[in-house]
Amino acid sequence: MFTQTNSEIFIPDGSDPAQALARTTHLCIAAHQDDIEIMAVEGILRAYENPDLHFTGCVVTDGHGSPRAGKFAEVSDDEMAQIRVEEQKEAARIGKYSAQVFLGYPSSEVKKTGNQALKEDLKNLIRQTRTEVLYTHNLADKHNTHVGVLMRVLEALRELEPEALPKRLIGCEVWRDLDWMPDEKKVVMDVSANKELQTQLVDVFVSQVQGGKNYTDAILGRRAANATFFASHATDNATGLSFGMDMTPLLLDRSLDPLEFVKGYLQEFQDSVVGLLEAMR
Ligand SMILES: [Zn+2]
Repeated sequence: MFTQTNSEIFIPDGSDPAQALARTTHLCIAAHQDDIEIMAVEGILRAYENPDLHFTGCVVTDGHGSPRAGKFAEVSDDEMAQIRVEEQKEAARIGKYSAQVFLGYPSSEVKKTGNQALKEDLKNLIRQTRTEVLYTHNLADKHNTHVGVLMRVLEALRELEPEALPKRLIGCEVWRDLDWMPDEKKVVMDVSANKELQTQLVDVFVSQVQGGKNYTDAILGRRAANATFFASHATDNATGLSFGMDMTPLLLDRSLDPLEFVKGYLQEFQDSVVGLLEAMR
């Protein structure tokens, strides 16, 4: 179905792959194994309890080149890549995903502008899912592979026929949160439910936690902090929030430059900081 020889579609409930993709209502396209569970937990939680909703994850890179520490220190790069795929499959099982897609690209390929094979794979995937919501990395992420995936996703979306486009495109928090965006411009995703599942979905990535990162506390903590410091009474009861950047305008207007689009948000941030300081001096 996809071009790379190591590409794979894993279906936790054993359904036919075409059907598992076709029923998808919430799709996340992410760079690495474990990004999905950080950035798109809203979609996972929604589909987990609602039989009418289906979540599908897609990891673009092949899992090579990740740090190896602790009990994984002696593991080869190839073995580590396989371990990361298995961890991602376990997350898909725990989270009851409809499908988990692995496109299997080296990170270096993701960073190539207009990578034709990747663009076609992404178009193929999005067409087959007909998803309502598409979660991917946000335009202000600081990880170059994340931004590479985002730009390839935008290239694919902008070549798709209108009926295959998602209704909403959300840029999500991973290697940079979106606290700095104006509150009224944030996509506010309530992720207060089922903290136990949220914890399991991070803890399953044992190889990454062994790398010395306390992802579980960091990810659940960010959601708690977002909820506490968000200035809206409407969400006072929320104990966890994820923020998103609404990138849907980039789908509706194909001539809109993503750089100019994000510069608008950065300018608003600068204006709010400078404006308050000027008012108070
Ligand atoms: Zn990542």
